[in-house]
Amino acid sequence: MDSVEFNDKTVSKSTLKYTGKAKQVFLTDNPDILWVHYLDQATALNGKVKENIAGKGKLNSEISHLLFNYLTKHNVENHYLRSISQTDELVTALDILPIEVVTRNYASGHFVSKFGVEPMKKLAPIVQEFYYKSDELDDPFMNDLQIVALAFATENDLNQLREQSKIINQLLTALFSKAGIQLVDFKLEFGRTTQGNIILADELSPDNMRLVDMKTGKSLDKDVFRQHTGDVTVGYHEVLTRLQQL
Ligand code: 5GP
Repeated sequence: MDSVEFNDKTVSKSTLKYTGKAKQVFLTDNPDILWVHYLDQATALNGKVKENIAGKGKLNSEISHLLFNYLTKHNVENHYLRSISQTDELVTALDILPIEVVTRNYASGHFVSKFGVEPMKKLAPIVQEFYYKSDELDDPFMNDLQIVALAFATENDLNQLREQSKIINQLLTALFSKAGIQLVDFKLEFGRTTQGNIILADELSPDNMRLVDMKTGKSLDKDVFRQHTGDVTVGYHEVLTRLQQL
């Protein structure tokens, strides 16, 4: 399918804009709208490890659609417009900020390796970190002054990123908790609309969040792929099923 209805108009898929690590982004005949296709691909170490995993695109796309719809219902402005198929969606074209915003509720991943703290230590207050989105440089950590000095964003923008991430964290934590899942940490990306507002972009899936089964302590996210501890789609399927049952 290469055309779809949106707001009583037909939107048609045009040329490939770029292929990311887990998605392809196409232009459409409407300059304000992009067509996103989720790939059956998993990567680790900023793309250095890559593998084809059947069914992963569909799982990520469906989880992402569900979570964006939930956030929209709770008045969090975001780029998601509509789902086209089990693997495709329309989103608003944004000027994406080159910054990854990581929120941590519990110590895990790089927070544990960097500070030598006990895994799953509860973090109070929650930790918010910025990283420069660059595979070549391995997404280095950035503080506010580095970001402002390089004109990636203003201090006011960064305060908005922190505030929006905090609200999203509260909403997602509450939702996952109802599904018996602990939201350990996650990465968000944001972009600027043509009106200059900063809104949530990218995808919301176990590819960019750590999710742990509250009962068993089992990992239901991409750590299973990163650490080669099993079939990553089993956990993703579990996450989708539990969210659908709420
Ligand atoms: P850490 O800094 O511990 O590696 O990651 C913290 C959280 O942000 C994890 O949930 C991880 O999945 C997510 N994250 C951080 N950087 C990236 C990235 O470059 N790509 C993706 N998909 N997720 C990331």
